[in-house]
Amino acid sequence: METITKTFTNAPTLVERAHNIRRNALRMGEVQGQGYIAQALDISDVLAVAYFHAMRYRPEDPTWEGRDRFLLSNGHYAIALYAALIEAGIIPETELETYGFDESRLPMSGMASYTPGMEMSGGSLGLGLSIAVGMGLGLKRKGSSARVYTLFSDGELDEGSVWEAIQSAGHHKLDNMIAIVDVNNQQADGPSTQVMAFEPLVDKLKAFGWFVRRVDGNDLDAVIAAFDAAKADPDPRPRMIVADTLMGKGVPFLEQREKNHFIRVEAHEWQLALAALEAGRQS
Ligand SMILES: [Mg+2]
Repeated sequence: METITKTFTNAPTLVERAHNIRRNALRMGEVQGQGYIAQALDISDVLAVAYFHAMRYRPEDPTWEGRDRFLLSNGHYAIALYAALIEAGIIPETELETYGFDESRLPMSGMASYTPGMEMSGGSLGLGLSIAVGMGLGLKRKGSSARVYTLFSDGELDEGSVWEAIQSAGHHKLDNMIAIVDVNNQQADGPSTQVMAFEPLVDKLKAFGWFVRRVDGNDLDAVIAAFDAAKADPDPRPRMIVADTLMGKGVPFLEQREKNHFIRVEAHEWQLALAALEAGRQS
């Protein structure tokens, strides 16, 4: 008992977890000289809360049947999820050096068959929620209490399959589904709200029968409260966290860089970014 208490007391805080996820992502970006780093930095707080507050899993047994599933619908965010999986101890930290290389288990887009903890293959967008509906139904039929978490991006709201899945989840009252949409108002073709208007998003999701909580996705306390509320909602319905995020969060010169889906980071800037992240570290 004493050991358990001691381990718990020494566990890193969620602030530290989020910091470490950002640092892991920047280190991978430096290895390859590229990566969707602005998105990785914007979603690190959400991933910290998902992996170190909300979800149930066994790091040493990533396919444990009772685990909560985490689906990365936006496969180009793989660098962010790898960063979290490394922090969670599911992927060894040493593999960070292999990011994006041939034969690596960490390809630049999420591939389920390559990577422990990666539950679906990404690349084609708009599919995660549909897969989550199938998984959610399957888990219920097996009598499992596991949940299905799905991260997707605001640009995916342009896809018809996303709304079909939202309607299906509401119809089937999939209260084991918790989805998180990263509203960074950026996608490949420009600002998401200009490419295809999706507001009022909360009202639309509620109309489909979902529990919805909208938060500043870079406010850790707010994100924790949103996950807690989503898990605790007593009604038989799927749950959505709408997370408004800031691309490049934690590295001021990247936060201020002109917004692009794929921001360029010069070779010498990765170390500057790591230094800036460290300088802004919260205690
Ligand atoms: Mg986006």
